[in-house]
Amino acid sequence: MASPDPGMSPLGSIDEARADVGPAVHLVGVIGSPIAHSLSPLLHNAAFAALGLEATWHSRAFEVAPGHAATALAAMRRSAISGLSVTMPHKADVAARVDECTAVARTLGAVNCIVNHDGHLVGTNTDGQGFVASLARGADFTPAGKRCLVIGAGGAARAVILALAEAGASEVAVLNRTPERAVAAAALAGAAGSVVPAWPAGSPEHKDQVEMVGSTDLIVNATPLGMAGAFHGGPADWLVAPELLHPGQVAADLVYAPRPTRWLVEAAAAGAQPVDGLGMLVHQAAAQLELWTGLPAAVEAMWQAAETLDPSGP
Ligand code: NAP
Repeated sequence: MASPDPGMSPLGSIDEARADVGPAVHLVGVIGSPIAHSLSPLLHNAAFAALGLEATWHSRAFEVAPGHAATALAAMRRSAISGLSVTMPHKADVAARVDECTAVARTLGAVNCIVNHDGHLVGTNTDGQGFVASLARGADFTPAGKRCLVIGAGGAARAVILALAEAGASEVAVLNRTPERAVAAAALAGAAGSVVPAWPAGSPEHKDQVEMVGSTDLIVNATPLGMAGAFHGGPADWLVAPELLHPGQVAADLVYAPRPTRWLVEAAAAGAQPVDGLGMLVHQAAAQLELWTGLPAAVEAMWQAAETLDPSGP
């Protein structure tokens, strides 16, 4: 059957999914492009099963072409979709189109979760909350009073920077290839925010950067470097060499395919405690589920489902 919604294919449209599951089931899902390899429905449905809700709640992935978020939101209203997870490339577009944004989504200008309150669509962002939860679980690390360094200044980095500052980090330094984006991202951390220039290794100024890395409690790779699939750079591209890290530090990588990344393996070899990106994925999804259902999210079941996946990636 042809999709009635332009920009939505080939996994089937939101309206088709509603017709498929029937009117009595609470339908949720994830929108993005490309979305075929998304783990979100697996995580959501594992939690629904653990909660005994598999007959009444169901999650699907919807391929929504770039620029077609408005089409998906219209279908969400029309087909009474209880909630949608939002991923690349729609987070900013959705933030501009929902009826209301929470403070965190407004500050970031990015929505990763929509909650449907009887047709009134509220956008929020659980990425930063998920990251902080992953640090607690993966390294027993709490940001309060800690010095943090975030490499990258894109959407994920911005969520992490804001969450670290809100969790009480004493310093959130940002190092990014494009300096202007680092300035904007560091501003999210208010007085705790600062920018570290990306000096080339061997330059006199690079020595300061090395010292700064050495005195930091948490170093986060929030760039796609190391991601499976396409070529996403190697050691020559790393803005912080992992051998600069040492025991007592936590190294977190937002990339979760492959897990661990080469940067994380080398950071662990240098003595840092590694935290890979799967925890952020699981905990941001768990927070979304709680918003949709009003129930505790069965995080352990979501972890078990996530752990069954091929660590080398799709
Ligand atoms: P994004 O908005 O496109 O930002 C990418 C960032 O990486 C920018 O700061 C960019 O620097 C930097 N970058 C890209 N290529 C680089 C290179 N070759 N050398 C140096 N810096 C480079 O992407 P995003 O949404 O923030 O996602 C970043 C990563 O986080 C992705 O791998 C994504 O899969 C992952 N992620 C994971 C989770 C999770 O749940 N674990 C959630 C969200 C995202 P410029 O500013 O200079 O372009």
